[in-house]
Amino acid sequence: MKPLNYIGFPEVRTAAAGRWEGIHRALGIQLATTSHTKHTPCPGCGGRDRFRLDATYQDTGRWICGGGGDTQAGDGFSLLGHVFGWTPLEQLKAVADYLGLSSANDKERETLRRKAEAMQAKMQEDARRLDEQALRDSNLLMELRELEDQIRHRQYLQRQAHKATSLYRVCITPLEDELSAACAVNTMILESYAHYSAGANQ
Ligand SMILES: [Zn+2]
Repeated sequence: MKPLNYIGFPEVRTAAAGRWEGIHRALGIQLATTSHTKHTPCPGCGGRDRFRLDATYQDTGRWICGGGGDTQAGDGFSLLGHVFGWTPLEQLKAVADYLGLSSANDKERETLRRKAEAMQAKMQEDARRLDEQALRDSNLLMELRELEDQIRHRQYLQRQAHKATSLYRVCITPLEDELSAACAVNTMILESYAHYSAGANQ
């Protein structure tokens, strides 16, 4: 096997994005469907309905196989391992060959590498944003629970007051904690929306 020089997974993955169905079929994987909502027999380990493609299949080659109750999943490269038993290096070489990258010149490889770096940076940035959003959401949920507790507590006090003075409707003003919790929740929701609209304008 001719060594691949310095072309690696990031570069080949970049070039393969959007082309996984063609790659898999050309390399001999028989896909029953490319719909990610349909369960089919696994092209590797058979069965009846244990296999399905991910919604991002064309871009990433991602798949999920229930196996014998032992779920496996991976990207377009690893499906070649699951079906044909190829090692990661064999998977890389086969996809690179199919895409004509094994004979790519240095300039073409450099372009692919830059593109791969940019794509990875973007994926990391997206993951970081998602983490931040998840943190904001969980903080917001905690504030909402606290507010709910405080409201329940006030309602309890109000019911007690009704019982104590059965002839009068007694209204207990919102507790100070309750008001500040409501304000905090309000601020967090506004901040969250500000983030979304800022994101949409980028
Ligand atoms: Zn399988």
